[in-house]
Amino acid sequence: MPSKKRVLIVGAGIAGTTTAALLAREGIEVTLIEKSKSFISGMGICLPANATECLKKLNLIDIVCKNSFISNSWKILSESSKEITDFNFNTYFGPNKLFIATHRTVLHHALLSLENLEINFNLSISEILDNNANNVNVKFNNGTIEKFDLLVAADGIYSSIRQMICPEISIDYLGMACYRLVVPKPKNIDQVTFIFGSPGFLLMHPLSQESLYCGFVFPEKNKGRFTEKSFEKHIKTFFPSVRLPFQEGVQALPGWMETLSSTVFFKDRIVFIGDAGHGCATSLQQGAALAMEDSIILAECLKNISHIPEALYQFTKRREQRVNWVRQESNDCMRNLNQPLTEEQKTLRNEKIKTSGLNNFALWKKLFASSAFNY
Ligand SMILES: Cc1cc2nc3c(=O)[nH]c(=O)nc-3n(C[C@H](O)[C@H](O)[C@H](O)COP(=O)(O)OP(=O)(O)OC[C@H]3O[C@@H](n4cnc5c(N)ncnc54)[C@H](O)[C@@H]3O)c2cc1C
Repeated sequence: MPSKKRVLIVGAGIAGTTTAALLAREGIEVTLIEKSKSFISGMGICLPANATECLKKLNLIDIVCKNSFISNSWKILSESSKEITDFNFNTYFGPNKLFIATHRTVLHHALLSLENLEINFNLSISEILDNNANNVNVKFNNGTIEKFDLLVAADGIYSSIRQMICPEISIDYLGMACYRLVVPKPKNIDQVTFIFGSPGFLLMHPLSQESLYCGFVFPEKNKGRFTEKSFEKHIKTFFPSVRLPFQEGVQALPGWMETLSSTVFFKDRIVFIGDAGHGCATSLQQGAALAMEDSIILAECLKNISHIPEALYQFTKRREQRVNWVRQESNDCMRNLNQPLTEEQKTLRNEKIKTSGLNNFALWKKLFASSAFNY
């Protein structure tokens, strides 16, 4: 791609920041816009081994690991808080597969350190005036109009660019809600702890020696019906026998498990990356990994193929199968976790977990064997 090409990147989240840095490095003229006034930190984030592979490729692994917790094992507890297994990741995945969890701000600052990027805060697109085989013409919310060779929509699952270009794609709620919070880490929790709820689950992940990230995921029929005020009531309903690692009255961030009804990769001169193109349930903790993989591969395609439509076609070819597999498995996992089980079903599940761990583990193993997805 000749360096005089102009690329507009909408959204300075994981996907947008990574892509902007990688394209700027190639000498491309990048404009990065972000609708918020500043970055929103948003709790912790778990990064399985394909996410840490991306951080290795970006030369960010050391800086991120310095401020993260490396998980070598997961303790899995039943609904009654009895230990089912203490599952060793090094034995199961091999010593090179690095799983970490960190504060979102740590990841974001690391990505921002890739290049000296100028971020245009408080800016978004109010209208796509034209999107054709040669360029894309947009109107910003400050009234200015500009033409670009490419628009990268990295504006998350609620992407307004996608809603303008593909209004037929809906955001479907999967019937599961969550609360996330970061609390001081009690001394007795020194590894990842997964507890089944009735139904749903609680994942407690240390982020450092000092802090613990807790994610409660539970069924809730109506999206938006609960607020942070109902936090403690929900926890007691679905996790009655869990000794919570924090005092009453703590603040938690509510959220919802959602998926796009289908994926979109590109339309003429607009390419969709990260959640904007393929958002889904977070069961396999693949949001950051897929966003960074998208960015790395898109930058490679644009670097190696000067004809933009061909580069976007090759990008789609390299991403489609892997992304669709992750979406399908993640959404299925979330739907399964929404099902209440009989005592007999719980016993069978626990027996299976003792030998092979959670369903996630086998799915991760498949995902890490990257050749399986033409990636
Ligand atoms: C409860 C929950 C837990 C999760 N846990 C994990 C986890 O442990 N591990 C993991 O990998 N993933 C997790 N995810 C998913 C992960 O957060 C997302 O997949 C990831 O953030 C997607 O990155 P992105 O850059 O595509 O989008 P986003 O992070 O959503 O970034 C989009 C950016 O675009 C900006 N923006 C939006 N609209 C506009 C606009 N019109 N104009 C300009 N800017 C705009 C936004 O402000 C934002 O900065 C979780 C998600 C949820 C809801």
